Amino acid sequence: METGKIGVTTENIFPIIKKFLYSDHEIFLRELISNAVDATQKLKAMVLAGDYKGEVGDTTIRVSVDKKKKTIKVSDSGVGMTKEELDKYLNQIAFSSANDFLDKYKEQAASLIGHFGLGFYSSFMVSDKVEVITKSWQDNSGAVKWTCDGSPEYTIDESEREGRGTDVILHIDKESKDFLEESKIEQLLKKYCKFLPVEIAFGKEQEWKDGKYIDTGKDKIINNTKPAWTLKPADLKEEDYQKFYRELYPTGDEPLFSIHLNVDYPFKLTGILYFPKIKNNIEIQKNKIQLYSNQVFVTDSVEGIVPEFLTLLHGVLDSPDIPLNVSRSFLQSDANVKKISAHITKKVADRLNDIFKKNREEFEKKWDNLKLFIDYGMITEEKFYEKASKFALLKNTDDKYFTFEEYEKLIKENQTDKNKTLVYLYSTNKTDQYSYIEKAKNKGYDVLLLDGQLDVHLINLLESKLTSSRFVRVDSDIIEKLIQKEETRESKLTEDQKEDLKSVFNVKVKSKEIFNVVFENLEENEAPVTITQSEFMRRMKDMSALGGGMNFYGEIPDSYNLVVNPNHNLVIRINDELKSADGDKLASNDTERKRVKEEIAFMEDEHKKKKADEVSQVEKDDLEKLKKELGDLENARKEVLEAYGSENKSVKQIIDLALLANNMLKGEELSTFVKRSVQLL
Ligand code: ADP
Repeated sequence: METGKIGVTTENIFPIIKKFLYSDHEIFLRELISNAVDATQKLKAMVLAGDYKGEVGDTTIRVSVDKKKKTIKVSDSGVGMTKEELDKYLNQIAFSSANDFLDKYKEQAASLIGHFGLGFYSSFMVSDKVEVITKSWQDNSGAVKWTCDGSPEYTIDESEREGRGTDVILHIDKESKDFLEESKIEQLLKKYCKFLPVEIAFGKEQEWKDGKYIDTGKDKIINNTKPAWTLKPADLKEEDYQKFYRELYPTGDEPLFSIHLNVDYPFKLTGILYFPKIKNNIEIQKNKIQLYSNQVFVTDSVEGIVPEFLTLLHGVLDSPDIPLNVSRSFLQSDANVKKISAHITKKVADRLNDIFKKNREEFEKKWDNLKLFIDYGMITEEKFYEKASKFALLKNTDDKYFTFEEYEKLIKENQTDKNKTLVYLYSTNKTDQYSYIEKAKNKGYDVLLLDGQLDVHLINLLESKLTSSRFVRVDSDIIEKLIQKEETRESKLTEDQKEDLKSVFNVKVKSKEIFNVVFENLEENEAPVTITQSEFMRRMKDMSALGGGMNFYGEIPDSYNLVVNPNHNLVIRINDELKSADGDKLASNDTERKRVKEEIAFMEDEHKKKKADEVSQVEKDDLEKLKKELGDLENARKEVLEAYGSENKSVKQIIDLALLANNMLKGEELSTFVKRSVQLL
């Protein structure tokens, strides 16, 4: 027997390892099995190269738990180790690098374990003693046993082993006894080892016999050694991809389509990514991609490793260039990882472009489920936008799909305004904005449907990308002004009459919102009153609702325009009725105002002829008095007009109709409207 002291200067490395790795104790199993897989693969490589000529035999890696002895054993039939190798790999290399690593990376120790050949030592996180019994593939070597109880002292002894390979036996410590549960080990094997390339057996297959389950003689293999992503795309059919998706996510919607990644240069990367059906709420859909390194599971949170929008995809990525045990911040700054990320973005865009080109119909069918993903990509990744802008679609309110280019062509002629700006009209809700969409269509315009979760952002993006273009929601102004052309239309009412009607229509419409009365000379068959909300105002409110940091806009009340059409018969009639109802009052007010105005004009004229200091105080006071008189007269007039408006059923009725068309008439106001409608009939 031989004893020795492991070459560490730190008094006792294991408490440190335990402490650093506290949060992730379970990885010990992955590390041991990875080593067993490596040893097996090395042997297979030697067979291929003709360096090993002996019998290969069964290479299954066996994991077992002995609850009584409190041990977990991992056995392989790989290359094994000679006594010299054992000494070199387990005593010298691992510990010397452990030393370096402790010096340099105290802070990030936990995240760097795997990098420094410390994988094997992670077993001390859960054990108070570890034994390794190993026999090398080399003919003349006998078995050796290494034992270490977690102090820097170890022993190496001669031992017995039937064939080539290694057994690692962990004597599980008190705090870690959970790992002695078979169900726990099975769960870890499923998590980390599901796709390892060498068969791993844990327990036996069971069968139903005499009223209970009993073990058969057959090993229970827990892994699929040839997962779809490791096969050649040419050897796989669509069903195989679907089947593999089921293997990854037993309960989930069918994916829309998949991309098989297979890169050799400048780094190695394989994987299969699936486009899931993404309808809404991106947050809950994230982080379904599993990251592997040579078929060993690393993590399922790929944020920071792939671009944000790609975290919406499902599937697996496998790259030996992704280190096993590194921290997120390390990965994020890693040059290889960055390249991988850019490459995947490009591949994803190319694949989408392919489907779009080869089968537009299929692409359109899937668009509604793809839209959120592609929009997210375009908004967040410039490089993706460059490619996606060729195949991304816009859907109009008739459910027709267009590329950006096609759509521009479609609307160019009709929807360019007098300033040569191309106006994209859109609706966010076909039902609520129905009447506005109708009006736009009657004018020969096309209206897009932009009702998606990210459309507010998409609109901002497109306005910055498409030259001289503007997006305007179809209800943000009256139809004539949505897209302003050169032509002007006459008004059937004079400016004075309109001024009076402004007060008539200035009835308190609703409590919370602000309404500004404006006149637009529309055609006589257009609605008498229309309600609009400016695009700017609404967008600001939308953005603040999305948490865009513009809370200011969220607080101010909604303000709308109440657009009155002076060419509509009803408006003209209201004007005529006003004359017959309050005509006398208004006429005398008119006469009075005219007189006062003339007096003011005369006086001001007189004052102008004199020098400033020649105007007496009495004269100044007289002028002030007149001005006040005029103000009073104007107010009196307004009062008459407003009283008329608030008494007039037609005024209220056409305003309510406009509110109704805008889905803004609710509750008590709606019921008053219904009652009034019956009375008017
Ligand atoms: P790493 O695997 O990162 O090199 P480890 O500490 O896990 O670091 O292992 C150190 C070395 O010990 C390995 O590189 C390998 O040469 C040897 N080794 C570990 N486990 C086995 C095994 N099951 N069979 C053969 N050699 C092994």
